[in-house]
Parts: sequence; structure tokens; C-alpha cells
Amino acid sequence: MSLSPNPQSDFERSSFIKPCDYCGARLAVFVSREIGSEEHEYTCPECGKQYPVHAALEPLVSVMEPRTDGKDDRYMDTLF
Ligand SMILES: [Zn+2]
Repeated sequence: MSLSPNPQSDFERSSFIKPCDYCGARLAVFVSREIGSEEHEYTCPECGKQYPVHAALEPLVSVMEPRTDGKDDRYMDTLF
């Protein structure tokens, strides 16, 4: 009789801190990865700019430091 070791261990949780390119807010991003992860997107809560990330589930984002550009507009991909 053998016990399978940690059947849930396919998920690898990780987090990283990344400043938003657009508004300068520092974002803490928490993702769960697994083999063959699809590409998801996370959204900067401060300006709405989206970033791709490889993750098994929807990434969680929290703002560590607010935006630094002093504006309150929203990022738009099609600005012109
Ligand atoms: Zn932003």
C-alpha cells in the first residue's frame, strides 16, 4: 500500500513585486503555477493596464505603493 505524496503539489505558488510601467505603482502579484500553465492577465488596480503572466489561476494583485505619476487617468491600449 503506497500513499501518493502530496497530490496537490502540482501547484507552485509564487509571488513577485513589479512596478507598473504606466503609472509607477508597486504591485505584489500572487500566482499559482502548474505544468502547462496558460497565460492569464493581471490588471494594475491603479490604472487598469494589463500584463500577461503564466499562471494556472487568475492572479491576485495588491497594491504595495500607490501610483507615482500623480494622475488618475486610466491606461488605454488604443490611445490614438
Ligand atoms: Zn498602473
